[in-house]
Amino acid sequence: MNNSSVAKVKTEDINKRIIGAVEGDPDGPTVVVLAGMHGNERAGVEAVKNVIGTLHGIEPPIDGHLLGLRANISALEQNMRYIDEDMNRIWFPSVISEVRETPEKELGSSERVEMKRLLRILDNIENRTNGPVILADVHTFSADGWMFTITSSDPKQRKLLSKLHVPMVFGIEESLLGTALGYYQKQGFVSFGLEGGQHRHQLTEYNTTASLMLLLQAVGCIEQQYVDQIKKYEKHMRSHTKYLPVETELVYQHIIESGDEFRMQPGYKNFQPVKKGEWLASDKEGKIVARCDGYILMPLYQSQGNDGFFIIKEHES
Ligand SMILES: [Zn+2]
Repeated sequence: MNNSSVAKVKTEDINKRIIGAVEGDPDGPTVVVLAGMHGNERAGVEAVKNVIGTLHGIEPPIDGHLLGLRANISALEQNMRYIDEDMNRIWFPSVISEVRETPEKELGSSERVEMKRLLRILDNIENRTNGPVILADVHTFSADGWMFTITSSDPKQRKLLSKLHVPMVFGIEESLLGTALGYYQKQGFVSFGLEGGQHRHQLTEYNTTASLMLLLQAVGCIEQQYVDQIKKYEKHMRSHTKYLPVETELVYQHIIESGDEFRMQPGYKNFQPVKKGEWLASDKEGKIVARCDGYILMPLYQSQGNDGFFIIKEHES
């Protein structure tokens, strides 16, 4: 390819990658929403479209900048979690340097090409703003059950995320290696994962939309008095999550090795209480039982993925 056709491919990719943007005062906060890091998790992309649609044309305009991005375009097009490797397990400084330095055609996986293209946009964000940068990585999951956020237990971040009225889970961001949110947390961004609900559940897109609107309010990009929908979203989220623990922490993660033949017992949902010794899943070694009491999180009911389930408990502060 000559230089002008390379430039054309880059521009086309950037246009496809940007779900939408709303720009106000450049001194305000920048909220970046990554959606579709896993290509079978499409509700996040729709939620970002909803938020951007609502915010276009509001008066006064938003304070700051909202940017919604598709992370894994190839996987989204094929409605698969990933093509060659899990894009949310490769955000290691060593891999990122290699991805930056290697020409696209020499990169070994579709996800590394996606990462290289996504970085072209993410790398520019800090140069464009004087305000804080907040990164929300939006996902959905295969089991039924309640939404939650994956976040560090940093007090400032907890205070901010408490305004979303979504249960917070601490510790997963440390135990899952190579996530984008873990990488950007180390770069000094406020970054968290928003797990909006079951992939195709009718409420998942709505709940994700509502949470993102409350995030924009919490960081100061928008104010309730100028955006009619916020009150409705806040009321909905408060009542939707009313009976759930506000702050929880990871106590156990079941990792699936290749060839394990892992099968979750049917019927488990996020935040369902489990008792020590309860039969949760099976693999080629036999029964897998809960090692402790707690709530089950993200029991795996799809073929792609390396985490069988998590057990969390209420956080004692
Ligand atoms: Zn995901």
